[in-house]
Amino acid sequence: MPDKKPFEIARETLKQISARKLVPTPGNYQAIYNEIAGLPFVQPFPDERLRRIAQALPARNPGQEKQLGLLEYAISQRSWAGVQNALQAYAGFVPANGETSPSPLAATPAAAVALTPEFFEQIARLLEYVKPALGTDADDARFQEQLQQLLKALRDPAAEPYKVKAQLADFSHRLSFAAEDQAEIRQTLLKLLQLIIENIGELSADDGWLKGQIDALREAAQPPLTLRRLDDVERRLKDVIFKQRDAKGRALQAQEELRQMLATFIARLSQVAESSSAYQGKMEESVKQIEQARTIEDIAPVLKEVISATRHMSAASSDARDELRNMREKSQATEAELVKLHRELDRVSTQARHDPLTGALNRQGLDEAINREVATMRRKDTPLSVALLDIDNFKKLNDSKGHDTGDAALAHLANVARECMRPQDTLARYGGEEFVILLPDTPLDNGIEALTRLQRELSKRFFLAGAEKVLITFSGGVAQLAAGESGSDAIRRADQAMYLAKRAGKNRVIGA
Ligand code: GH3
Ligand code: MG
Ligand code: MG
Repeated sequence: MPDKKPFEIARETLKQISARKLVPTPGNYQAIYNEIAGLPFVQPFPDERLRRIAQALPARNPGQEKQLGLLEYAISQRSWAGVQNALQAYAGFVPANGETSPSPLAATPAAAVALTPEFFEQIARLLEYVKPALGTDADDARFQEQLQQLLKALRDPAAEPYKVKAQLADFSHRLSFAAEDQAEIRQTLLKLLQLIIENIGELSADDGWLKGQIDALREAAQPPLTLRRLDDVERRLKDVIFKQRDAKGRALQAQEELRQMLATFIARLSQVAESSSAYQGKMEESVKQIEQARTIEDIAPVLKEVISATRHMSAASSDARDELRNMREKSQATEAELVKLHRELDRVSTQARHDPLTGALNRQGLDEAINREVATMRRKDTPLSVALLDIDNFKKLNDSKGHDTGDAALAHLANVARECMRPQDTLARYGGEEFVILLPDTPLDNGIEALTRLQRELSKRFFLAGAEKVLITFSGGVAQLAAGESGSDAIRRADQAMYLAKRAGKNRVIGA
């Protein structure tokens, strides 16, 4: 009845179901409808049977559990495509070795479950992700070629699974060597880096600032290396190289000037010596002539010569005196220039990113680090907290024990803080006895915990002022960056919280 309208077919279908005494399931309805409408016969959807199968399937991991949910949904939607997808994905989540299950499916050979195109695709993607970590250049062309062949085979629907499996086993063997090579290369590079640092350290043993930087570098270049630590190593190395270049230029200049002055001095000295010995000779000669003179006429020319030689000698020594005075003035000017250079260098050092006393970042370093952390926080959508701490009654410590002891206490606090922070945290000296700690991937509560942990650690590790144990405490404030908030605004909030901690009796941490 091809010219019947849909509602007529529907009515006829219901009549037929009743006449044939069929159960009015959607499947039966669809079959009769198609028959009357002259459409091809469609097998009724076996939802009940499929559902029973689905219920018998075990959920041995979250992946399988999720796929069983999707399977139920596909069955309820009568979607064959959905059922197929869910089952294939379910088979992809093979439980790890050792996980056993009493279910009948556990007896299925793992290979039969695992070797699906999806599984192969996952391996292919895994290999592609791992590839950059194994060096991409031409150091092992055969390795790269084998990898490409394997990727092709994994993605070839016509490939024989057992052949792909053999190829995969072959490649894993090679991969294990490549991974070992990479680990060794990393180790060797690290050793080289430490050698370089040692060497720079040897060269600059007499420069306090550089020595501090070198110690910090050596510390930072210890494994395990993270990208943050490498970044820190890079910054410090740049500072050291910058300072060294300046110091070298300065030393070369001073050396050249000294060389020149020495050369002039020696030349003048020999001139003076020469002219004075010539004068001496002339005098001795004249004395002899005077002794032998019989008349005043004989003496007159001798006297003339003596006067001329004396005048000459006096001019020569006055020249030498002038020259030496010049030299002294020049050397004073050079000295003044060196003092100026030193001041300039000190200014440059403070402009570098690290505080020489504590090795923590200075304000400039903090600004750069906080910008970096805020950008990472936005990109990864992870929490970032900033902590600000201010030592309690520091003035009293300075007044009672002296400024040097105060300095040592600051360095002690920075050391303890560094030791109990995670490698990804950043310590900066914010002001005299105030420090800021940047805590990436850290919500407010954990930030407060971290600062409280540092307090506990400080109370365990006394600061030694000579033989005397001194307890250093601090008050702290912690703020978690709000969406759209700048780093400096968050530090300001942490500072306000720190102030509240002072008001509340000091030696405590308050969240902003
Ligand atoms: P509060 O508990 O309220 O913080 O009191 P406080 O004494 O710690 O605070 P205040 O701000 O009054 O004093 C801080 C002192 O820190 C004053 C300053 O002389 C000293 N200071 C700042 N920088 C340095 C430094 O580099 N070395 C030393 N030794 N002392 C410093
Ligand atoms: Mg203060
Ligand atoms: Mg203080």
